[in-house]
Amino acid sequence: MKTVRFSTDIPVRYSADVCVIGAGPAGVSAAVSAARQGAKVLLFDAHTMPGGMSTAGRVPTLMTYSDGVHFLPEGFGRDVFERMQSMAEALDFSWQNTTPWGFGASLNSWHVQNIYEELLTAAGVEVLYSCRLTAAITEDDRIRQVLFVSPGGLFAAEAGVFVDATGDGTLAAWSDVPFELAPPDELMPPTLCSIWTGVDWETYHKAKVFSHDTDAMLELLDKAFETGEITEMDYHHTGMFRLSNYLVGANITHAYGVDPSDELSLSRALIRNRRNVAQYENFYRKHIKGFEKAEIIDCGSLLGVRESRRIQCDYMLTFTDYKNCQDFEDGIGRYNYPADLHPAKPDRQSLEEHKKLMRTSSLPKGKSYGIPYRSLLPVGKDNLLMAGRCIGCDRLMHSSVRTIPGCWITGQSAGIAAALAVKNGCSCRSIDIKELQNRLQELHVLL
Ligand SMILES: Cc1cc2nc3c(=O)[nH]c(=O)nc-3n(C[C@H](O)[C@H](O)[C@H](O)COP(=O)(O)OP(=O)(O)OC[C@H]3O[C@@H](n4cnc5c(N)ncnc54)[C@H](O)[C@@H]3O)c2cc1C
Repeated sequence: MKTVRFSTDIPVRYSADVCVIGAGPAGVSAAVSAARQGAKVLLFDAHTMPGGMSTAGRVPTLMTYSDGVHFLPEGFGRDVFERMQSMAEALDFSWQNTTPWGFGASLNSWHVQNIYEELLTAAGVEVLYSCRLTAAITEDDRIRQVLFVSPGGLFAAEAGVFVDATGDGTLAAWSDVPFELAPPDELMPPTLCSIWTGVDWETYHKAKVFSHDTDAMLELLDKAFETGEITEMDYHHTGMFRLSNYLVGANITHAYGVDPSDELSLSRALIRNRRNVAQYENFYRKHIKGFEKAEIIDCGSLLGVRESRRIQCDYMLTFTDYKNCQDFEDGIGRYNYPADLHPAKPDRQSLEEHKKLMRTSSLPKGKSYGIPYRSLLPVGKDNLLMAGRCIGCDRLMHSSVRTIPGCWITGQSAGIAAALAVKNGCSCRSIDIKELQNRLQELHVLL
């Protein structure tokens, strides 16, 4: 490929103790948690709101946050959860079990954006939107500066510790940390989530034609693929989630074979997915009781990428750890959502295998797996921590820990650990684990 050489002086515009890149659930949790420990914190995001997939991606539900006995994302997660609850109650909306099959809590993107910004402001975090990470300047095992591009041009920021919460592990990958990334035809496919209004939820609920778990829906999909009413076959139909008394969130359509690190592939997936969502709007209005007058009012401004790079860390958390409900000496939290590895193929057989995996991997009440601090420590870098869906783990473990409460848990620990490393003038690898665990236990985190 033809190349060009580009060289220029770049202003170092910002300096802080901790610099968090990516304001998704993990990044906001990390930034707030570090600032609450007294660190001066910068939080950068390429987009224009906090929350990543959970807001801009219009993900409709908060997945498992309890093992049936314990609330697992204690600390930052508790702060968000309780605020979500009161905002829903103020609208006289019963926000739990908002799927027709009774599961999860509804994620109102507008509420979550406000909650995150309230917490960030209260903690004193400097938030910088519209700043896309562009490069990293490293020296041996340290990141010295990170470069961003904003509407004002290129600039640099420096910090004692960096937290990579980009979801894609972009900072770690660009700092030459090795990573694992499945090929596009094996990766979980992304979804463009959408928001619907005009739904008669009671009628829909009574008719019981919901998701890929109901035969009636699978039969309707069969016919729609056959007649060309829906042009891309996709039996994995997660379905509709109630967001408020008037709004419904849809987690439907997959774009198969997408490379999340390639701009052309992502752009084509967005265009394909928007067309597919429009086809489903007609399909629902025509065939699904309660949706006769429904219309789509919005869809994600970020494509819902589920899986991207998993960064090589000192410990790669495995599905065996999941099944063993493993405890770790350097544990920083516990989690338990089943392995939800969306199949890379759209056919019925792949869907059935997926459903079986979800069913068989559910942990019994009161059980959860530990998450070790070492899974946040990228190999070969001493002032970088991973948080969220790009931490060190295998693919099946990733399909569990990637959900929003899991990202709150790893974000919170990364933030506190970063503040401790700065305060004690040591590397992230040599912080006192007991001190980190004590801080987490003060927040009632189960280790
Ligand atoms: C379609 C879909 C449905 C899902 N359903 C559920 C569900 O029902 N319940 C649940 O709990 N979880 C669900 N999840 C999982 C969950 O939403 C994500 O895994 C979670 O949001 C990941 O959080 P994160 O902070 O690691 O990354 P993200 O949410 O991906 O946030 C990353 C942030 O980093 C920013 N960023 C990326 N690159 C750069 C860069 N170069 N420079 C600056 N900023 C950058 C992005 O703009 C973004 O704001 C779903 C995910 C998807 C995609």
